Amino acid sequence: MIVDGHQDIAMAMLEDPAWDFGTPASDRHALSLPDAKRGGLGLILGTLFAPAGYWPDGTPFELAKRQLDCYDDLLKRHADDLFRIESKGDLRLCQAGGPIGLLHLMEGADPIRSPRDLERWADRGVRVVGIAWNTGNRYCGAWDDARSLTADGRRLVERMRTARVIPDVSHLKPEAFDDVLSVDDGLVVASHSNAHALQPHRRNLTDDQIRAIAARDGLVGLVLYEEFLAGKESTVDTVLDHAMHMLALVGADHVGIGSDLDGGFPPDRAPQGIDSVADLRLIGEGLRGRGVDETSVAKILGGNWMRVLQRTLPQ
Ligand SMILES: [Zn+2]
Repeated sequence: MIVDGHQDIAMAMLEDPAWDFGTPASDRHALSLPDAKRGGLGLILGTLFAPAGYWPDGTPFELAKRQLDCYDDLLKRHADDLFRIESKGDLRLCQAGGPIGLLHLMEGADPIRSPRDLERWADRGVRVVGIAWNTGNRYCGAWDDARSLTADGRRLVERMRTARVIPDVSHLKPEAFDDVLSVDDGLVVASHSNAHALQPHRRNLTDDQIRAIAARDGLVGLVLYEEFLAGKESTVDTVLDHAMHMLALVGADHVGIGSDLDGGFPPDRAPQGIDSVADLRLIGEGLRGRGVDETSVAKILGGNWMRVLQRTLPQ
């Protein structure tokens, strides 16, 4: 069973109202429910993406609410195939090809008006929160900002532990990454980042950062945007190179998938051979081809996300 830890489904719904998640992927979209089923997906983290200033028509709070409504609408329309995960027990209901469990990842904590608001989002399925996206917010400064994790940011990370929400360190600058990890010794993930050693882009993680995430029993989700893979001309093999690099560093327990397909880039900027989310299984085939054992392949495709969520979700 495949778990995709990062899909901007609601963002794509708002940006392209004519798009229907219920029909197979097209030239313009790599995500769709039929392709997710065909590809053997069993769980998806659908994002809430509402950094301040990104959307012209509303506050981050309003936009994130609107995106939750988009997911509610999908859950209603596809009740046989999609359900929202509320507890550890629900993880057992997820099946390759459906029903597919849905949880949420907030990409940039801008919609959380105060750390005290966190539980309300968690109750609606937000179980992973990225402290900041590329732009800064009250919790953390941007890359070109002197601020790193703020006092409120520290409070938010502390609150995540009691609210059973996992901090996502993808998008954070190195100082903020260190600050988040200095709050406590709890689990963190990088939902969609690759290896900086292979593609030195600021969105990718250094070997030390990958080791630090693994030391907390977290994971790094392989992201399928060519810019973070090899610049241009990436293929499934490029994705495998990043996976193998991480495997050599930290072993099979700390690598997953966070495709970010449809995350503001068109399908032709994903690796060649990956036209839709159905093609995520090619990562598994490729890993087998490189001699990775079946148990490890299963962990990378979905088992590691399941472990991390099993530890986090309420009973
Ligand atoms: Zn992102």
